[in-house]
Amino acid sequence: MARVIVVGAGVVGLSCTVRLLERGHDVAVLARDLPLETTSAVAAAIWYPYRALPQDRVTAWAGSSYAEFVGLAGEPDTGVRMVTGTEVFRQRQRDPWWRAAVPSLDRETALPGGYTDGWTFVTPVVEMPRYLRWLRSRVEELGGTVTRMNLSGLPPAGNGADVVVNCAGLGSRLMAGDRSVVPVRGQVVYVEQVGLDRWWLDSAGPTYVVPRAHDIVVGGTDDEGEWSRTPSPETARQILARATALVPELAKARVLRHKVGLRPVRPGVRVERVGDVVHCYGHGGAGVTLSWGTADEVAALVG
Ligand SMILES: Cc1cc2nc3c(=O)[nH]c(=O)nc-3n(C[C@H](O)[C@H](O)[C@H](O)COP(=O)(O)OP(=O)(O)OC[C@H]3O[C@@H](n4cnc5c(N)ncnc54)[C@H](O)[C@@H]3O)c2cc1C
Repeated sequence: MARVIVVGAGVVGLSCTVRLLERGHDVAVLARDLPLETTSAVAAAIWYPYRALPQDRVTAWAGSSYAEFVGLAGEPDTGVRMVTGTEVFRQRQRDPWWRAAVPSLDRETALPGGYTDGWTFVTPVVEMPRYLRWLRSRVEELGGTVTRMNLSGLPPAGNGADVVVNCAGLGSRLMAGDRSVVPVRGQVVYVEQVGLDRWWLDSAGPTYVVPRAHDIVVGGTDDEGEWSRTPSPETARQILARATALVPELAKARVLRHKVGLRPVRPGVRVERVGDVVHCYGHGGAGVTLSWGTADEVAALVG
């Protein structure tokens, strides 16, 4: 069994850590931001392969994660629920490229005004703060540790570890010297629950409305190359206007708070072993969606 250091405590790092611990490895997580401070904590988070490539690997990773989330939805502490919802389009669509990753997908005929096509499917909705707390407690229960540490580079394998797993997300610009991973800024507004029990998505905005137990996450934006993590009041107003046009019930929902996260987008998600380092980053807008699939591959690469 190997001694492994995982860099990063977002959904990707913690999921890899759980898989490695389950296989009997000795794992220590080092991270500048603890789980609830990461981009992962901002995710909406609906299972949906958004801004992540290549299509074949993403479909396989997303499919394995879907299956894992179905199991986790049976455990109330995880914060995972299976929720039905509809993605809408202004033009007629073919089946999505990731069709094989979901068990069923139905063409929707009851569409909001202005839309001509849509598909309805059941997908995992993950309440991130709760889920990240659960993942961290799973890591600790299996004997792993999570330590805050701001690193200026990947720790060298040899001394404290046999293998280093890089799950630094956007931090891989520094950790792996990889400038192809760029921020794609996403702003969301949390509003109070007004009895909504299904999600809605119009990728063209992107506009999404994701109901959770006690609130609703309303998005969004995808501004490439934008680093600001300060919510913009004007952007929030536009997000709410778009979302209310799609889901009119939101008109009466009180705004609770605003958040911004920087998605780690790369031309292709990187899951690759180079010597004693396994890289796992660049999950874009789908870190939650791909998390278990990429964790399984990392566990196989660690060996
Ligand atoms: C508004 C918004 C909505 C989203 N909605 C969804 C959704 O519905 N579904 C979905 O699947 N995905 C969604 N995403 C995308 C998802 O949040 C990301 O893909 C995911 O969080 C990436 O996870 P990660 O673990 O790779 O990175 P992060 O969560 O960013 O974690 C990176 C970790 O690396 C650490 N690190 C970085 N640099 C250093 C360093 N120098 N030293 C030590 N540690 C370091 C950080 O501190 C952190 O712990 C959304 C994102 C945003 C912003």
